[in-house]
Amino acid sequence: MFYGQQEPSFPTEPYEFLVWWYCGYPASDPACSKGWANLTREIGIEPEKLLKAKASKLSAALKAGGMVPELRAERLREVAMRVQDEFAGDLRAGLVGPIPQARKKLKSFPSIADPGADRILLFGGISAIAAVPSNCVHVIDRILHPRESQNYSAAYREAQRALAAELPEKFDARTRAYLLLKKHGQEICKRTKPKCEMCPVSSQCAFFAAAG
Ligand code: SF4
Repeated sequence: MFYGQQEPSFPTEPYEFLVWWYCGYPASDPACSKGWANLTREIGIEPEKLLKAKASKLSAALKAGGMVPELRAERLREVAMRVQDEFAGDLRAGLVGPIPQARKKLKSFPSIADPGADRILLFGGISAIAAVPSNCVHVIDRILHPRESQNYSAAYREAQRALAAELPEKFDARTRAYLLLKKHGQEICKRTKPKCEMCPVSSQCAFFAAAG
């Protein structure tokens, strides 16, 4: 197997994922993980702990995750308050039901768009949706087309449809596809200068065929 077994580098429980997401800015696995490690050590992540902490202490704990810690501290408090008030302390339970509604609820949180909402629904075990890593939409776009799309939303939806058509509607198949796409986009099919010469799917890639 080219990339081997992959494990999520982020918390999969929906509330924890939201907290992790605001732990770093610009949001990336290393930045969010750094802020998360500090936050869990200094304050904790439960809504009551986030709401009880002084704003200055919260933003100081988030500094390890990068820029605008004060704004991220405010966002965390907003998430904690909403999860307590609107979801009775259980965000995951509030997402069970029709997927368009669950997606809408998730997108009402700051900086959560379709890719983030889909990732939460898939990894949270709520819907075996064909989520695509937000920064790797170009991978499927390139496999399908000789030229890259200029329309991110359309490319995201097309990538989802392509994955859904190829994979069974099962959590293990779709989480694995998500993690492999992420790895492939980070290591070989990079945004700029893809390493096509070492790519295991180059024979099926329209972008590569057009370049050759
Ligand atoms: S052949 Fe190149 S462009 Fe196509 S998927 Fe592989 S790395 Fe990406």
